Amino acid sequence: MIATLAEKIKRGNERLSAEELTTLYLHCPIPQLSAFATLRREQLNGKNVFFNRNFHIEPTNICMNDCVFCSYRRHEGEAGSWDYSIDDITAQCRARAGEGITEVHIVGGVHPHRDVHYYARLLQAVKQALPAGVHIKAFTAIELDYMITKAGVSLSEGLALLQQAGLDAIPGGGAEIFDATVRRRLCPKKGDAGVWLRVHEAAHEASIRTNATMLFGHIETLAHRIDHLLQLRELQDRTHGFDAFIPLKYKAANNALGDIGETPVLDVLRTIAVSRLALDNIPHIKAYWPMLGKDVMQIALLFGADDIDGTINDSTKIYSMAGAGEQHPTLGVDELCRLVRAAGFSPAERNTFYEIRKRY
Ligand code: SF4
Repeated sequence: MIATLAEKIKRGNERLSAEELTTLYLHCPIPQLSAFATLRREQLNGKNVFFNRNFHIEPTNICMNDCVFCSYRRHEGEAGSWDYSIDDITAQCRARAGEGITEVHIVGGVHPHRDVHYYARLLQAVKQALPAGVHIKAFTAIELDYMITKAGVSLSEGLALLQQAGLDAIPGGGAEIFDATVRRRLCPKKGDAGVWLRVHEAAHEASIRTNATMLFGHIETLAHRIDHLLQLRELQDRTHGFDAFIPLKYKAANNALGDIGETPVLDVLRTIAVSRLALDNIPHIKAYWPMLGKDVMQIALLFGADDIDGTINDSTKIYSMAGAGEQHPTLGVDELCRLVRAAGFSPAERNTFYEIRKRY
C-alpha cells in the first residue's frame, strides 16, 4: 500500500482518499512520510520558506464562550482580563509604526457587548495609525459571526462593512475540530462547523483571502482529523480562497482539559505531513513557531511546512497563557533566516498575500 502511495505522490496530480491518508498516518515510516511531504511541498513551493513582519493585537480576552481547552479567556471583571479601548490599540500601533511591519493580526475573545460597527471603527483607527500599505488580517469566523449577528445585518453586509473599514484578510482560528460530537464537549457555546465554513465561504465570495486551522491532540480521533482536512479541501475546491492551513497543537496548561496531557512531537510532525499531502489545493502549510517552539518549527519544515508566520515581537498571549515554551515570542528577521537556512531552505519575506517582498 505504501509503495502504491509513493507512486501516486510522485505523479503529483492525484488526490489522496480518506483511507490513503489514514494509512499514511498509521503505517508510513516517519522518514518516508517526511520524504513524501517534502516532495509535495517542493512541487508547490520549491525551497521557499515564507515569513512576514507582523505583530498581533488582542483587543480583549473577555469572552462569552467557555471553550474547555482555552487558557486565555476571562469573564468581565475577572482577574487577568483585559479590554483595550480603541485609543489604547491605536497607541499600540503607533508604537510599532517604525518597525517595517507589513501585517497586523487582530483576534481576541467574543466580547458580549461589541458588534460589527464597533469593530469597523477599530479597523479604521488601526489603518490610520499604521503606515500606508500595512495589511489587516482580523477576526476569527466565530468572532465575525457573533459581531455581525449582534448588529442585525447579513453576513455579506457585515463583511462589506469591515472591508470598507480596512479588513484585508481573515485568519483561520475558531475551526478547532469540525466533528459535532467533539465540538459539543470542547466548545459547546461556540458556533458549529457550519458557521465556520459559511463565514469563510462568504469571505471568499467577497474576495477576502482567509486561512484555516485545526486544533488537534486533545479528545479527537484520527478519523476526526481526516474529516476536518477533507471538509476544508472540499470548500477550497469550490472557492479557492484559502492561502494557508495551520495545524495547531493543543497546549495543556491552565485550562479545564489540562489533565489529558499533550500529544508527542512525532504526532505533531505526522499531522503536518499528512496535512500537506491531504490539502493538495491549499498552497501553504504553516508551522506556527510561537506554538511549536523554534526547534520543532525547524523540523516541521522537513515535514511539508513552507511558512513560519512572522516576527510577532512579543505581541500575542494566546499560546504563552497555555504553556507554550515561547513565553515572549519574538524573532528578528536575521534569526528567522538563520533558522530557515539551517534546515536547508531559502527564506522569503512575503506580504499577507504571499507576494515575495525580499529574498535573503
Ligand atoms: S477559544 Fe476563543 S471563543 Fe473559545 S473561550 Fe477562548 S477566546 Fe473564547
